[in-house]
Amino acid sequence: MIKRPFFALTRPKLGYDIPEPDPKEPKLIPVPSNLILLLHDLIDSAGEPLIKTGDKVEKGEKLYLYKDSEEYTVSPVAGTIKVIDTYSDDFGNTSTYLVINTDPGLTAGTDALRYELKDTITSADEYLRTLPGAPPLKTLADPGMKINTIVITCGDTDLLSTTHQYIALRFMDEIKEGIQVLKRITPVSRFCITIPENLTIKADITTAEVFRTSTIYPSNLPQMILKDHLNIVLPAGKKPEDMGICFMTAEAVVSLARAYKTKTVCHEKVLTVIGKQGTPYRVTATIGTPLRRIFNAFSIQANEQDRIVIGGPMKGFATYTIHHPVQPDMDTVIVQDKTNIAELSGNPCVNCGKCIHVCPAQIPINILVRYLEAGLYEDAADRYDLLSCIECGLCAYVCTARIPIYQYIRLGKHELLKLRADA
Ligand code: SF4
Ligand code: SF4
Repeated sequence: MIKRPFFALTRPKLGYDIPEPDPKEPKLIPVPSNLILLLHDLIDSAGEPLIKTGDKVEKGEKLYLYKDSEEYTVSPVAGTIKVIDTYSDDFGNTSTYLVINTDPGLTAGTDALRYELKDTITSADEYLRTLPGAPPLKTLADPGMKINTIVITCGDTDLLSTTHQYIALRFMDEIKEGIQVLKRITPVSRFCITIPENLTIKADITTAEVFRTSTIYPSNLPQMILKDHLNIVLPAGKKPEDMGICFMTAEAVVSLARAYKTKTVCHEKVLTVIGKQGTPYRVTATIGTPLRRIFNAFSIQANEQDRIVIGGPMKGFATYTIHHPVQPDMDTVIVQDKTNIAELSGNPCVNCGKCIHVCPAQIPINILVRYLEAGLYEDAADRYDLLSCIECGLCAYVCTARIPIYQYIRLGKHELLKLRADA
């Protein structure tokens, strides 16, 4: 059984994008009349629901489906629940979505609910999971995880995005406040912060170890940060949390600082939006805003057969609807015109070896891909290192035969998890 730790021999020179030195305020998208909230819980026809269509909700109100539900969402607006229905993601995983019809009169102003936030991680987890940046409070509050290091990332993980670099440039003082909050509410002893080496941050940072990350993709992926700066090689199939290390975005830390200062939650998410001509726009939108509202603000026409990608060009996934809502962890949205979408092929691998050459995990992708195409996921993991893949997408980017390798890998890992859970 191969369990290959990754260590880079070569990397292609794909550079991360950097924001302008003195970035302007993002364009503010007005709160729409209907917001769509995703809730990681399932509708149970036998359960006694806590919420139903027609219910009034307050701005900042926590919403659970059932009394014993562990997952919640928070309404960014005052209004009325219009729809509660089942949502399916691109792998067929189901959860629930709520449509909230906004009451503009009640939503405007500073009428959000205030929370009894205490200086404990359980209290933060009780209210703040859905903040912009999606702070990993559930992980930090889990006593089984034994987190001893928090790494705050000011670099964007995918190409074209400048969301977190913008936050680092504009709000470093609040990032430092957020680090102090984390020091108060968690027992974590080590704090690190990554800053891209070409980003000029004027503030002194003394509250965390500073790692300057390379400008070359995929240096900002957690596995690469672990290896390059903490000298830790993540074993195949493990997550950073399994090693006691928790990653948190700059935006999540800023949101946490604001929540502790105001005792309420903010719902304004910063996003990088890339239009069809490749023009980048920076946007602030309320969590739950349908993407079409953002496209309208920039006159971006998303037509049939165009592609909307959530995330960057290397790791993003396509959504099939312009109604897809802004999510707490959504940093980038790309709209591709149908004429600019690189066609994937059904061609077989030609053994050119380009994918192996770029792979930071040195996986024999030319063979792995054959097992994935055949649905032999256990063999793909045991014999060809599927679980060592760090999901950088470089193999698909360079593939001569235009095989959708990255999609095969994501699907393969997903199916393998299901198989192992069933077993
Ligand atoms: S996505 Fe492809 S190139 Fe990147 S680590 Fe996985 S197999 Fe290697
Ligand atoms: S890059 Fe594509 S065609 Fe070339 S070896 Fe890898 S999978 Fe095969």
